[in-house]
Amino acid sequence: MNYNKKSIEDIEVAGKRVLCRCDFNVPTKDGKITSDKRIVAALPTIKYLIDKGAKVILCSHMGKVKVEWDPKLSLKVVAARLSELLGQEVIMAADVAGEDAKAKAAALQNGQVMLLENTRYMKGETKNDPELSKALADMADIFVNDAFGTAHRAHASTAGVADYLPAVSGYLVQKEVSIMGKALANPERPFVAILGGAKVADKLNVINNLLEKVDTLIIGGGMAYTFAAAQGYNVGKSLLDESKIDYCKDMMAKAEAKGVKLLLPVDCVVGSFPSPIDGPVDVKTVSIDAIPSDLEGLDIGEKTRVIFAEAVRNAKTVVWNGPMGVFENPTLAAGTVAMAQALADSEAVTIVGGGDSAAACEQLGFADKITHISTGGGASLEFLEGLELPGIACLEDK
Ligand code: ADP
Ligand code: MG
Repeated sequence: MNYNKKSIEDIEVAGKRVLCRCDFNVPTKDGKITSDKRIVAALPTIKYLIDKGAKVILCSHMGKVKVEWDPKLSLKVVAARLSELLGQEVIMAADVAGEDAKAKAAALQNGQVMLLENTRYMKGETKNDPELSKALADMADIFVNDAFGTAHRAHASTAGVADYLPAVSGYLVQKEVSIMGKALANPERPFVAILGGAKVADKLNVINNLLEKVDTLIIGGGMAYTFAAAQGYNVGKSLLDESKIDYCKDMMAKAEAKGVKLLLPVDCVVGSFPSPIDGPVDVKTVSIDAIPSDLEGLDIGEKTRVIFAEAVRNAKTVVWNGPMGVFENPTLAAGTVAMAQALADSEAVTIVGGGDSAAACEQLGFADKITHISTGGGASLEFLEGLELPGIACLEDK
């Protein structure tokens, strides 16, 4: 895949209607936004478009729409917050690409901003329906994709629309693609990937592709226990995807055949999963082959931390996705802290993807010592795997 994509700076936007796909999928509670980080992250692109005198038509999805036109998932709250941040009105459309949106788009003046309703209100969105793509495109002259977090989805507003309009990246997407693309196209070696977290089924599939690219693959977090099971150990109550045990065996054999170092935990911190998640928990550290049947592996142990950190210390490129343990609980955070510390101390190019891994780095105060923290979880993972992301592939090459 070519990572050398045109950006908003490579196209004339003055006086043009620019449809800009953002990631405004913000968390809300009782109708209020609990973190506006994603809105803030979109500001550089939006401000650039305003300053250049474009007519700005923003769009995004929010949440998973299960009830038709679910008012709880309306982007009105985003329009209100964005308007505060920009210090100018954000015109809210009553629909996505219907009569109201079309009329408001047609009436836009240079430098004005409008926001379409939740793109997932339209069934055609996730089906990448050409009819919806065309309706969106008909309102605009140029398409800008600035939603890296959904770039791995081929949806109407993330990819389909680019069939009908000149398509370029916004600053967020540009930054993600140029930093990660550079690191991956020709990584400085040793290249070390660290996988952890809880989405075992999703992330196990990544391993096959990563083994083609890396010198060392480190597995921690919840997915390590399916590997432990593949090694023939009892994993007690730990997270386990039984259907993937044979796959893990295959991956161990593949790593061996390719001469890739596959580092798995040699010890772990066990206990009963705390409830609430940050509540008190009794723990002890055991060897990976001695997990008690009634307990669950909740973090990597001290010996494992040392081995993993050593591999990071010797690396020139490091990518990390997924915490090493249930880091939300202070008693179970040490493994994740150790990895974050190792990345922070390293001279290597360090890239962190995944919502929880990024949050861990930020909470622990390591964020400014990491080369790049990706805004995309699934998207960054697919990117790291070397898969083609539809929301990026659809953009014009430089
Ligand atoms: P990311 O968001 O970085 O992609 P995931 O969403 O896959 O990561 O996983 C993050 C979650 O994994 C965290 O909530 C953490 O508590 C959980 N987790 C990590 N290790 C374990 C484990 N050993 N057992 C259960 N959950 C775990
Ligand atoms: Mg997560």
